[in-house]
Amino acid sequence: MVDEVNSPDGSLFGGDSDNSNDGFLRPVNVASSLFFESAVEIFARVHREIRPRTAIPPIDVVYKRFVDPNSRVRLEGGRITVTITDLLEGAPAPVTEALAHILINKLYRKPVERQHQHRYRMYLNRRDMRRRIDATRQARGRKAHKGSAGETHDLVAIFEELNTQHFGGMMARPELGWSHIRSRTRLGHFDPSHNMIMISRIFDDPRAPRLALEYVMFHEMLHLRYPVDHSGTRRCVHTPEFKAHEKQFPEFKEAKALLRKLW
Ligand SMILES: [Zn+2]
Repeated sequence: MVDEVNSPDGSLFGGDSDNSNDGFLRPVNVASSLFFESAVEIFARVHREIRPRTAIPPIDVVYKRFVDPNSRVRLEGGRITVTITDLLEGAPAPVTEALAHILINKLYRKPVERQHQHRYRMYLNRRDMRRRIDATRQARGRKAHKGSAGETHDLVAIFEELNTQHFGGMMARPELGWSHIRSRTRLGHFDPSHNMIMISRIFDDPRAPRLALEYVMFHEMLHLRYPVDHSGTRRCVHTPEFKAHEKQFPEFKEAKALLRKLW
């Protein structure tokens, strides 16, 4: 039972084919001790490589929930704090090591070696990682608005008013929220992947005409009612049915004129 080799599936532990009878799963093919280093130990070792003559400061490594795969490093009060996206919490040691090179070099304003940059990017570019990054962005990007209760207007009240007037109260209410940014170019937006209507915060203002806000909300509600038509080569967002229904808004022309003035 000496010289156990790779298990065929490439897992790190010998499976049933292991004919030792000690009842333990024994690690196989662990070529280096790197595998057993903690993230802190990896960062300390890389620090020693980059600044061999400097005493290694105490290092803290924290994994944090970010929307994007971000990582940060800072040196404060003689301590190094590394904050890494939790997406990389289970990353293989060589990836953590590459990230350590990137961050420690950044901290001391030194150029990052190509091979570390490359290894780190390769890992983030793997299809499974890209999928996780996208899913995380979607799930965590959800709270990118300021909630539905504004300072002047409550989006839920406006939605339900329009729902009663134009949809027989039958439209299921999506998530509603004011944008963080007072955008003049994106007045409203329906996001089907989050089932969310976001309204520009420029309307949450006593000086902004309520009619204009109602019209923008109505327009976004129509996007919920008439899903985007992907059948052609060009996606048609405002289908003929959409446009016909939109004209039923009682003060359609007046509202459009108000919006033109806002721009
Ligand atoms: Zn639209």
